[in-house]
Amino acid sequence: MPSYMVTAINVGSFNLGEADRVLSIFTAERGLIKAIAKGARKPGTKMAGRSDILCVNELLLSKGRTFEIITQAQTVDSFPKLRTDLSRLSYGLFYAELTNAFSQGLEDDPKAYLDFLMNALQQLSNSELSPIHLSLNFQLKLLEFLGVKPELTFCIYCREVLHDYNLSKFNVELGGIVCTACFQQGRQSQVSEHHPDHDELEHEHGMLSRGVHITPLVWKTIILADAGSVAESSNKAPVVVSEQAQRLIQAYVEHKAGKRLKSLDLLGKFKDLNNSKQSAES
Ligand SMILES: [Zn+2]
Repeated sequence: MPSYMVTAINVGSFNLGEADRVLSIFTAERGLIKAIAKGARKPGTKMAGRSDILCVNELLLSKGRTFEIITQAQTVDSFPKLRTDLSRLSYGLFYAELTNAFSQGLEDDPKAYLDFLMNALQQLSNSELSPIHLSLNFQLKLLEFLGVKPELTFCIYCREVLHDYNLSKFNVELGGIVCTACFQQGRQSQVSEHHPDHDELEHEHGMLSRGVHITPLVWKTIILADAGSVAESSNKAPVVVSEQAQRLIQAYVEHKAGKRLKSLDLLGKFKDLNNSKQSAES
């Protein structure tokens, strides 16, 4: 049976049979693979720990019929610190979910992506910087890897340079920000009379008036996170602005993935719980 070595991170799993687990692993050599970790659900076995989500292993794989089979495993990193902080861990799980969702687009240079992901998880686990801002930076870099990064400095329609005073909507379908002038043009064409010859143009103009309003603070937060100035953006942006920026970029990422991403839902629920507790106490 032909065997081969890979360096891989666990980004998902499901149970198989009595005691086995099928892992989704993103490998430096071949991108995303599914592989069976035999006996991984028996408590106390080494394979149980090594099959944990976000664990990085050197694996010896042999070819299987449906899934590859893990025959040897050696852990490289398991980010233990990340597992002690629910908020940071949730962002780590979000990175894993993103890797799964976009794995096909990352297969050109899987090693570069794995290095980038491991580096991002190290940062998430060891730095004091806000996980929201780290994740904004991660998502924008991921979109760059995929070649679908949103346009952040020019109006997506007329190419006018964006400033604090001419921002209007962030439009996920168009892939960027629409300036105030284009937004107004879109609004006007919606109320003007319908011309049968101009269907396409009207459709295009109709698009310009859609999207989520973007404030100058949210815009600057995204620009700073994109430029890698994560420290600066975390220090400057109030929490509510950071959360708006995260929601906006996540909505764009979900549009590209064609599905909802759920890893951060739990965090939102905890936050709602804390807020209602605080207001009940005060
Ligand atoms: Zn414009």
